[in-house]
Amino acid sequence: MRKRHAEIAGAGFAGLTAACALAQRGWSVRVHERADRLRTTGAGIYIYENGLRVLEAVGAYDVAVKGAPFAHTREVRDGRNRLISVHRWTGSRVFSIVRQNVINALAAVATRAGVDIVTDSLAAGATPDGELMLADGRKLKADLVVGADGSNSRLRDSLGLLAKRKYLVDGCTRLLTDKTPEEMAVTDGAKTVEYWSGTRRVLYTPCSETDLYIALTMLDSDAVAKAVPVRKDDWKRAFPRLEPLIDRIGDQGRYDRFDLIKLKRWSAGRVAIVGDAAHALPPNIGQGGGCAMMNALSLAVYLERENDVAAALTTWERNERPLTEHTQRISHILGLPTTWPPVLRAAALGIAGRSQWLIRQRTRTALHRPTGT
Ligand SMILES: Cc1cc2nc3c(=O)[nH]c(=O)nc-3n(C[C@H](O)[C@H](O)[C@H](O)COP(=O)(O)OP(=O)(O)OC[C@H]3O[C@@H](n4cnc5c(N)ncnc54)[C@H](O)[C@@H]3O)c2cc1C
Repeated sequence: MRKRHAEIAGAGFAGLTAACALAQRGWSVRVHERADRLRTTGAGIYIYENGLRVLEAVGAYDVAVKGAPFAHTREVRDGRNRLISVHRWTGSRVFSIVRQNVINALAAVATRAGVDIVTDSLAAGATPDGELMLADGRKLKADLVVGADGSNSRLRDSLGLLAKRKYLVDGCTRLLTDKTPEEMAVTDGAKTVEYWSGTRRVLYTPCSETDLYIALTMLDSDAVAKAVPVRKDDWKRAFPRLEPLIDRIGDQGRYDRFDLIKLKRWSAGRVAIVGDAAHALPPNIGQGGGCAMMNALSLAVYLERENDVAAALTTWERNERPLTEHTQRISHILGLPTTWPPVLRAAALGIAGRSQWLIRQRTRTALHRPTGT
């Protein structure tokens, strides 16, 4: 039988996972990445049980989690360092990992499976009959085109699939810094802490043997707080107890405003849209990358089950989209207290940390067994 061929735009979590899963199922695959190399934000990422299962299924798990700590405990603390809530992950896994390590692990598996990864290749659009248009004017024909080109997806927009893009009130600057010798001496996993002060948050996360991941969250309208390089004096005023930590921040960092994306459909003919391009969400439960990888793997699974590409994509969306929608809803709701008065917010976060019903809603995606795993 003729090998089916896929052209993929974007070599992030979604594009690389789709590339691995399709190639492992007999497809010939080419991935187009606009950057000159496979480079992601210098930051950490939480990958929960669901995403870890996907990494295992494609064979990238061992390399991706090498040296990454098991993030067993997550605390939320208020401006006076009082504990608002604590969640302990027992019976399921969650690692905090350097992002680049996951990308490298997926890229290595993809390359071994025969995927052609082309850098400096900017995708410009696609047609439902399976044509990928590149910015240099070339048109590439495929049985399947995958738009995994992130939240500003050109492929999605060329097909008019966007139903709603809501920019949220907040955003985040992410960065990595070196661990201290004391932090390096901790070898029994990672306790991660989210500190609140007014509308600002500092998330502290050890994410490798040597790296610490810091995420500073603030209102998008807070120009001083979102400045990069980070205005350390201003952050130290907001978090006097964290002065030694804030002092360790260097000049690097990347700010992103949170957004929420919904599509009319996840596909058009032979084109599938996956990852942030289809369903970006705020990171309040750390599942954007998890959903991107789950939906990329399941895409390949449905295409293996059903020969007709358009029909397979319809089934894929019908079966997989409800969990992603749930994840977006919960993530969005958990961000709402950001603008509430501190007392109300602490009460809401405390309830969210104790209510068994809310914990079930919040952890449903992490505990889901993804299709194909
Ligand atoms: C502050 C913050 C914290 C987060 N924390 C977590 C977390 O802890 N856990 C988690 O699971 N998720 C987290 N996320 C979400 C996660 O980062 C995203 O959901 C994930 O990166 C989506 O992957 P993707 O492959 O769809 O898109 P991207 O990661 O955006 O990758 C898209 C790729 O496509 C390339 N590209 C773009 N346009 C084109 C084009 N036209 N042609 C060719 N290539 C193109 C880009 O260069 C990039 O390499 C967080 C997000 C933020 C903002």
